[in-house]
Amino acid sequence: MARKPLIAGNWKMNETIAEGVVLAQEISNEMEPDWLDKVDVAVCPPYTDLKPVYTVFEFDKLNIGVGAQNVFWEPSGAYTGEISVPMIREIGCSYCIVGHSERRQYFGETNDDVNKKVHALLKDRVQPIDPIICVGESLAVRDEGTYIQFVDAQVKAAFAGVQADVAKAAIVAYEPIWAIGTGRTATPEQAQEVCGAIREMLAVMYDQDTAASIRVLYGGSMNEGNASQLLSQPDIDGGLIGGASLKAKSFVQIVKEAL
Ligand code: PEP
Repeated sequence: MARKPLIAGNWKMNETIAEGVVLAQEISNEMEPDWLDKVDVAVCPPYTDLKPVYTVFEFDKLNIGVGAQNVFWEPSGAYTGEISVPMIREIGCSYCIVGHSERRQYFGETNDDVNKKVHALLKDRVQPIDPIICVGESLAVRDEGTYIQFVDAQVKAAFAGVQADVAKAAIVAYEPIWAIGTGRTATPEQAQEVCGAIREMLAVMYDQDTAASIRVLYGGSMNEGNASQLLSQPDIDGGLIGGASLKAKSFVQIVKEAL
């Protein structure tokens, strides 16, 4: 089954509103609109930038999606500091990153939290927001040799209780922690090994058709120099890009590599 690649930028806690608008405009200027027929593109800025960045792409009539970097699972209520699915839906978000390793590491997010967020995002498919579920092992787990089991357990936990028909809308991003922001990219073979294992796990949990529909991305120091080889692997359907997504030319070059 041909899966449309997705290139998503994770801006993390970078770019004020003014800076974010400039970066979005630069991305818009660099992008050829017809590339977006062949590759889905999204940027995930901080919450404060979501609407202004959405507005840049809307004004330019450019089909680049906007995603949040996190969300809370309750729709409203006394949860100071949190943002809900209806709130990011109203902004126009079509993606939301869930369970990024930095959230797991610094904010104590658990597999159970990730599962609740995935359910909250997949509940209403009228104006869909597709979760980009991040999984990936630490260097210690890689060195131990148990990384496939570790990632499989994260995938199983994230999808627990999710029915096959809605699971197809979810996206999994394999992001080995040792490759995030370190400049040390997984080799194409290392990335393919785990992305292939994730798809096999999805086939065990669901069925071949569902597993073949779910996009599996690679993330971890992907840039315009290494994207082509990573993206040519059979089970890698795109990239979640951190550092290189903050430079319009680099980000758009990675999009070109996915064409
Ligand atoms: C990320 O944090 O999702 C990421 C992939 O970062 P970087 O590309 O900077 O390694």
